[in-house]
Amino acid sequence: MTSHASYLLSQQGPFAQAFNNYQERQSQLAMTEAVEQALASDKQLLVEAGTGTGKTFAYLIPAIELDGKSIISTGTKNLQDQLFYKDLPTVFKVIGKTRKVALLKGRQNYLCLHRMDFNLQTARFTTKDTLEQIVKIRQWSETTKDGDLSQVNFLKDDASALPFVTSTADNCLGNDCPSFSDCFVAKARRHAMDSDIIVINHHLLMADLVLKEDGFGELLPKADAYIIDEAHQLPDVASVFFGQNLSSRQLMELSRDCLLAYHAEAKDCSDIKLYADTIEKQTADLRLLMGDEVPRQFWRNYLEKNDIAEHFEQLEQSLSLLTEVLQGQAIRSRELENLAERAEALSSRAACFLSCDEQKDVQWIEIYRKSFTLNTTPLNIADNFNKAIAPYHKASWVMTSATLAVNQQFKHFQQKLGLYNAETAVFPSPFEYREQALFYAPRDMLNPASPEYTRQFIASCLPLLVASKGRAFLLFTSHRALNEAATILEQHREFNLFVQGQASKSYLLDKFRVTENSVLLGTFSFWEGVDVSGDALSFVAIDKLPFSSPGDPVNQARINAIKQQGQDAFFSFQLPDAIIALKQGVGRLIRDINDKGVMMIGDPRLIARGYGKNFLQDLPPMLPTRNQELVEEFLANL
Ligand code: SF4
Repeated sequence: MTSHASYLLSQQGPFAQAFNNYQERQSQLAMTEAVEQALASDKQLLVEAGTGTGKTFAYLIPAIELDGKSIISTGTKNLQDQLFYKDLPTVFKVIGKTRKVALLKGRQNYLCLHRMDFNLQTARFTTKDTLEQIVKIRQWSETTKDGDLSQVNFLKDDASALPFVTSTADNCLGNDCPSFSDCFVAKARRHAMDSDIIVINHHLLMADLVLKEDGFGELLPKADAYIIDEAHQLPDVASVFFGQNLSSRQLMELSRDCLLAYHAEAKDCSDIKLYADTIEKQTADLRLLMGDEVPRQFWRNYLEKNDIAEHFEQLEQSLSLLTEVLQGQAIRSRELENLAERAEALSSRAACFLSCDEQKDVQWIEIYRKSFTLNTTPLNIADNFNKAIAPYHKASWVMTSATLAVNQQFKHFQQKLGLYNAETAVFPSPFEYREQALFYAPRDMLNPASPEYTRQFIASCLPLLVASKGRAFLLFTSHRALNEAATILEQHREFNLFVQGQASKSYLLDKFRVTENSVLLGTFSFWEGVDVSGDALSFVAIDKLPFSSPGDPVNQARINAIKQQGQDAFFSFQLPDAIIALKQGVGRLIRDINDKGVMMIGDPRLIARGYGKNFLQDLPPMLPTRNQELVEEFLANL
């Protein structure tokens, strides 16, 4: 044993004394040593830590012991809360050492005093219900210390008051804000600046790396170590931040804020009202012209339609005219100056969506029931990411996840983020998979493209669901298959079904855990970040290999770009992504050293196609079988 961190986690260390039946894990000791060394030498280190390694403590201890500031970024707010409220206090208590820690969320989680007051003064544009919510928030604001809106019990996630009481990077007045000295966002940032360990999420990390928001000083340059957990999610989050977007919501909000400012501060400038009204109408008309709600589509397909192109050009002109008018009024107040900046930014983004460099970017649109979002996504973010982290080259970067490597290699992940010189390490799971899990591939399955496939998949699951008495996750690659499966299973009243979309994810999981004969049906949001250990989950079935949709414009454009470079897009891009996704899904089954269960994958391509072995070699070493009776018996005995 060579390091202090590994001593702490060893059988001789304080964790062994603090917890009954504590068993040191070689993978965890090796990982904590590797992280400790990386933090001591300003390296980039990529770590795949198999399920059950205990990777959180393996990186927290070196971060706590580091003589410097660490930023720890994770995938979701829930995981942030778990790190901040549970894991860090546990480690502090056991090792008898504390550091100053801060939990920093995105600005939309904090009350914006300025916008709340401004919108209350000009209440005519809110509904009665929204106004009542804002008034209640005003009362709460007098008691809160940190302005964290998650503590406001009566406020739902989609509450109509939220846009009126929170800020965006666009509408925040920063240092010029009249409420700046009391600003909760600024206070949270100052507290973070003053802390040794800051827990953030990937969106905040990328917002800071890419946008460098004004008015709040810099957060990141002072950190000595950046530890990125759930790092497999980082490339997708980064792609959003290196792109551009223009949404009907941004346009409507600009229009509404212009009208508020017109009534409050510039009643003599009727052009503000004229162009704000025009933009609101043009945005609504565009949405109507776009037709039905559709998932991601190439924007160029819409721009080729004359009426949409014409309306979009008119909208872009109105934004440009509004910008000119607002710039003429900007001297009157900081609010009008900010509106001029926002209008100019949206105007130049709109101009970008009238043309596109398809060699570098892909432009796509997502159309919802009442709104739309236009997006530009770079085909390759490696250079952008490298440039973004270049100022932090003196810090160490540790990126970790249970699913980062493909066939023990990190090439795929490294290429995505341009981390070509990073050191890499794989620490295997300590679980005895051959003892704990059966891997079942049913025979005679139809081609997954067949319209009968989902029906057959559920028919194959049913005897196993009976044997396991529910306690099962059925994971799907599409909402269509999920809905079809739910309809079929509704006829089997012996099972209590929990179907994604019926309630929040956390509610469904809580109910699933405590209900007998429960079967949970979910799509990709249940493939990761879901932890049900013990008897509550004994059977996980996946319908198809999770290849990303070839119809998706970003995928299609990236595949075409790879092909144009003379490379094989399937083996270099689609297959590794699908392997990582499958590893995540399979990882739901065995969460603890005492867990046992059956993993079933229905897709016959896993066995029949040559690339099937690429998936199989990356899955945990479960005991394989194609014998249904044996699987039923195994489940019945659990
Ligand atoms: S500085 Fe920005 S976030 Fe803070 S109160 Fe002012 S507008 Fe709101």
